[in-house]
Parts: sequence; C-alpha cells; structure tokens
Amino acid sequence: MVRHVLVVGAGVAGLSAAAALRSSGVAVTLVEAAARIGGRAHTTMIGDHAFDHGASWLHDAERNPLADMAQAAGEPLIDADRVRTRRVLVDGHPATAADLVARATAWERVERVATAAPDDIAFADAIASLRGDPWTATIEAWEAAQIAAACSRDFSVQDWRINALEGRNLIVPGGIGAFVTRRLGPAGGPVQLSTPVTAIDWRGPIRAETKHGTITADACIVTVATGALRGIRFTPGLPIDAEGLPMGLLTKVALRATGPGRLGLSPDLSVSARIARDETMLSLLAWPNGADHVVAFIGGPPAWELSRAGQPATIDFIRGRLRDWFGSEADVALDDATMTDWGQNPWHRGAYAYARPGHWQDRGRLAAPLGGGRLILAGEAYRTDGLAGTVAGAWLDGRRAAGEVA
Ligand SMILES: Cc1cc2nc3c(=O)[nH]c(=O)nc-3n(C[C@H](O)[C@H](O)[C@H](O)COP(=O)(O)OP(=O)(O)OC[C@H]3O[C@@H](n4cnc5c(N)ncnc54)[C@H](O)[C@@H]3O)c2cc1C
Repeated sequence: MVRHVLVVGAGVAGLSAAAALRSSGVAVTLVEAAARIGGRAHTTMIGDHAFDHGASWLHDAERNPLADMAQAAGEPLIDADRVRTRRVLVDGHPATAADLVARATAWERVERVATAAPDDIAFADAIASLRGDPWTATIEAWEAAQIAAACSRDFSVQDWRINALEGRNLIVPGGIGAFVTRRLGPAGGPVQLSTPVTAIDWRGPIRAETKHGTITADACIVTVATGALRGIRFTPGLPIDAEGLPMGLLTKVALRATGPGRLGLSPDLSVSARIARDETMLSLLAWPNGADHVVAFIGGPPAWELSRAGQPATIDFIRGRLRDWFGSEADVALDDATMTDWGQNPWHRGAYAYARPGHWQDRGRLAAPLGGGRLILAGEAYRTDGLAGTVAGAWLDGRRAAGEVA
C-alpha cells in the first residue's frame, strides 16, 4: 500500500504528479532543487511584457490539457498561427514568390523522404538524397535544430516522425511560466524549494538524500530532465541509462526594441533566412504579442557552442547576424539583451530531450516503473504519444506516473 510518495522536481510533471496523488489521498513530499517552481516553464518580465525563458506556446492545442485548463480559467489565449506572418530572406533579400514555391516544394519532399526512411537512422541521413536542393539545409536545420533542439546527424528520424507537432499553437499572454506557477502551483501543494536530491536508494522503501537530510517514502517519482539525472546517484543504478535521450538546446535572446516599424518589422512577424549546410540557423520573432522586444532563437549544436562561449559571445553573434539582415540600424533599434541559458543550468543541462538514432524506444523504456512501482521516471522526455518536449507531455506524464505509483 503506497501511503507516501516523494516527488522530485516541481516543474510541470512534478506539479501534475503531486496534484494527482494528493487528490487521491496519498501523502506527498515535493522537493525542488531551484528556488522557484515551474522548471522549464518560466516567465520573467521585460518592462511590462512577459518573456518566457522556456515554453512559450501551447502546442497541439486540440489535445493539450493545459490549453483546456487555461481556457477554463478564462485566460485570454491567442492563436499564434493566426497572428503570425513570415518573412524568409534569400541572400539578404526577401524571398520572391518563386523562392517560396521552391521552399514549400522542398519541404514537402523532405517530409515525404523522411517519412519513408527506415526507423533507426539519423534525420540527416534520411534526407541525404536531397542534399542537392538549395533549401534542404534550411529545412533540416529548422526541423532538427530549431524545433527539436537537436543535431540532425544524431537525431532519430523515427523520433522526429513521432513528435512532429500538429494542431494549433496558443499563446498565454501573461506567459506560460506565470500560468503554471499561478494555476498549477497551488494544485501541486507545498514544495520544499532549494532542496536538490543528490541520491536515491530504491532497494527497499525509498531513501533520498538532500542537504536538509534524508527523506523516506514508499515510492518516488523523479521528474528531472534527462540532463539532470546525472546529478542524482541511484542505488542500484538505473537499468537503462538516459544517454540515448540527450538534451538538445534552444537558446532565446530577447532584445528591447524601439517601436514596431523600425527595421521594417511588424508585430508577430517571424524572420528567417535560407542557409547553406552547416551554417547556423537563426530565427527572429518580432514584437510577439505586442511586447516591446524581439526574440532571436538558436538551436542544436550552434546553441551548445555559444552556450559554452558565454552570454557576451552569444549576443555578439546574434547582433552580427541582425546587422547582416537589417544593416547598422539594428544596433540602434535593438538594445538591452535578456538571454536564456538552459545549457549551463545544473537542474536542466539543456532545453528538452531528443532520441538518438536507435534510441527512439528509450522514451517508453525509461518510463517503465522500477522496483515494482517504487521508482518511476516522469517528464517531457518519456512521452510516446507525440507530445515529448512539451508542457502538455510533461503534465500528462506526471499524471501517468501518479497513476502507476498509486
Ligand atoms: C527554450 C525552451 C523552449 C521551449 N518551448 C516550448 C514550447 O513553446 N511549448 C512547449 O509545450 N514546451 C516547450 N518547451 C519544453 C517545456 O518547457 C518542457 O517540456 C517542460 O516544461 C518540461 O517539464 P518537466 O516537468 O518534464 O521538467 P522540468 O521543467 O525540467 O522540471 C523538473 C524540475 O526538477 C528540478 N530538479 C532538477 N534536478 C533536481 C534534483 N536533483 N533535485 C530536485 N529537483 C531537481 C528542476 O529544477 C525542475 O524544476 C521549451 C523548453 C525550453 C527550454
């Protein structure tokens, strides 16, 4: 009989697991390494506007439980796909109609070829036959680095297929992190903040070590990112390691901007450029949702390189690219950078997990309850329903783990 469960991590999955357990009458101890809840759902303010460091869209709205919760709570959700417009640059100029047709055709071809490829090869290898097309490198970088935060040469094409997001994308105007803290936090119940778990002994009843002492429980749900699992010593060790599900990285840099119209940008305009193979892809979202900043996104291996080089180097890189796109006016019009750095954060070590070639089934394998249900890993990384890497997946996985443990 499980009476008391330790939940490690108060991100979306941990809050969801704790809420489900408490509502079924199970006692919960919820511990969190950081000094705040929410994990990778984290909003800060830039001036009067919300900036989401992690999740910023409720993807796949039609089957996203957070979208339902936000709607029920009366959040004024915005349909991102309706408000967004796009500009694609080719050799420094806006793409012509013919360029856009060529891009759309190339995209369809990439999807067709990648969909037909054998399961366990890398995304890059799956589309290698399309290298001659001038758009392939751009589409490859978009799908792997920008969306999956992954390296296309190290990213399972089957994992790409399963997790390709569909449906509408909604924006919570006050920020997803703020929404999670405000709406999901209370359901999760009391949290012991600044309490990293360093070791978990699951040979019998759970014994977890923290700097504030040992916590004992009948069972334990560990919701930390796969990159943060290495911060916990498990006894015995986990039967499958998480090396097949490494953390990808997506870095966002927000730059305060002086008024729509400067640089020829309009609110909710997304700008990206055609790139050559191995060139870094940058995308830009101008004045999202009326904010007075633009947000630049870099993902995959270049994001890791820049994360290691540090914040000034990352901001310099982005400023250089924006100067290429908009001329020296970009330096005047965009100032005051705020940068996310999930790569160097010890409680995450990246943005979200992707599967290496040969490892797409690890998501399900790692989710399997251990020790007769005494130990369960949960979180975005373990979804097999196409919602891996999302807050929706994290929420559902917390509930899944709570159901399995109870
Ligand atoms: C840049 C970026 C953009 C994203 N964009 C989107 C998006 O637009 N839409 C979307 O749906 N998703 C997006 N995501 C993904 C989404 O944020 C995550 O999938 C989700 O928040 C993960 O929740 P989780 O509970 O599984 O993990 P986490 O949020 O990582 O929660 C785990 C918690 O465990 C804590 N922890 C770690 N180690 C320990 C320890 N040893 N002891 C105790 N506590 C510990 C951490 O501090 C953390 O709070 C994005 C993520 C990033 C980083």
